[in-house]
Amino acid sequence: MIKLEIKLMKNILGANDEIAALNRKLFAERGVVVMNLMGSPGSGKTTLLEKTLVRLVDKIKIAVIEGDLFTAKDAERIERAGVEVIQINTAGGCHLDAAMIQKACTSLDLNAIDLLIVENVGNLVCPAEFDIGENFKAVVLSITEGDDKPLKYPLIFKESEVTLLNKIDLLPFTNFDLRSAREDLITLHPTIKIFETSCTGGTGLEDWCTWLLQKVAR
Ligand code: MG
Ligand code: ZN
Repeated sequence: MIKLEIKLMKNILGANDEIAALNRKLFAERGVVVMNLMGSPGSGKTTLLEKTLVRLVDKIKIAVIEGDLFTAKDAERIERAGVEVIQINTAGGCHLDAAMIQKACTSLDLNAIDLLIVENVGNLVCPAEFDIGENFKAVVLSITEGDDKPLKYPLIFKESEVTLLNKIDLLPFTNFDLRSAREDLITLHPTIKIFETSCTGGTGLEDWCTWLLQKVAR
């Protein structure tokens, strides 16, 4: 029984990887850089996106794909920032897969986009297992989630090129050990880029946006 489930999972991931490869090829042909933005519910992904879009919208052409279980609440927030947004509702599904992105992209003019940001479903586990054809993954970890999360959910931090330690302004009010969290991140992924950000105070957002612009210019 257990063996069968493992085999099934391998088949699902194998089929997903094939579509992800097609997506990646399409994005490269159209000159679109794609970021897969991941993190727990409440880590601040959508707010970070809003603050990022405000800073970049005059500099590069951006579109957003919003993955959510049921609502369009986040997509409505992103639309207000003045960028094109496609909503994917997974109807309870806990991650986005390559086929969902392939389908969503048929409603986008990829030639007119420099950066496509995919906000994945809030979850630290399986979004990291499903390649969607992105150029790189980013994970938002908020201070209030606890410094133990990198070691408890290692895959997402190994897979992500960049981690945003978000809500950094709340550090004095928690027992989050910043040094130990940074050490764990580097142990898991020696080349990981780490930003300390606050979307209320604005800490780190300029540096983050500068880094993101460089990713698009490359
Ligand atoms: Mg969100
Ligand atoms: Zn899932």
